[in-house]
Amino acid sequence: MDETHSRPVVPGAVEPVGSAAGATTLAELDEAVTRCSACPRLVSWRERVAVEKRAAFREQSYWGRPVPGFGPADASLALVGLAPAAHGANRTGRMFTGDRSGEVLYRALFDVGLASAPNSESADDGLRLYGTRITAPVRCAPPANKPTPAERDTCSPWLARELELLRPTLRVVVVLGGYGWQALLPVLAAAGWEVPRPKPRFGHGARVGLGDAGGGELLLLGCYHVSQQNTFTGRLTPEMLRAVLTEARDTAGLGPVG
Ligand code: SF4
Repeated sequence: MDETHSRPVVPGAVEPVGSAAGATTLAELDEAVTRCSACPRLVSWRERVAVEKRAAFREQSYWGRPVPGFGPADASLALVGLAPAAHGANRTGRMFTGDRSGEVLYRALFDVGLASAPNSESADDGLRLYGTRITAPVRCAPPANKPTPAERDTCSPWLARELELLRPTLRVVVVLGGYGWQALLPVLAAAGWEVPRPKPRFGHGARVGLGDAGGGELLLLGCYHVSQQNTFTGRLTPEMLRAVLTEARDTAGLGPVG
């Protein structure tokens, strides 16, 4: 595709720094991020994909905008991925919804009692997450699933503000893949969490406890990304994913009662 293709930016377009900081609730933040057009390459790509579509979805209207976080505003567990998939969240408008990665993730969330259903196919399917919010360091679908460092940095105020707003209840973050891990650590450090030096390395099963000046404690758990590259090859099995989510659930105080 021609990455220079561009449609007019959305009406009321916002920039990340001031708009994210100005959001006083997650609902405000979620609305504001959908109007962001700060990254010309990603705006062009997300909208081009939404026009050209994949053949299987040609009768559908693609979202074609930044994708907000999904889940309750008082979540104690957050999942941080990479970025929306071109024909998944960029089509449906909800994180990990409408693609194979999402099938694996929501199945596991349902299995451990964190989601109301095992499938996540569209933003209006009624699915709910329990105490859990899914988000990403980059909110627009990037070509080849590879945002540039500049795009990651430009987008970081949205994630930083989301974590700030979740902070009163947030206890655990499951990071899906090394990209999210690398993107998240500076955001957490800037928000006042004490990130060890040297920076902890990503790995499946990595566990890092972060304190903050207020005496709070946040547990980071590393987990291989639910990409087809990992799940089709068996690098990440359903059992491995459920094990991480179960530890996250229990540490976040979301385990079964009794
Ligand atoms: S990637 Fe983030 S900063 Fe860039 S246009 Fe999308 S929402 Fe805005």
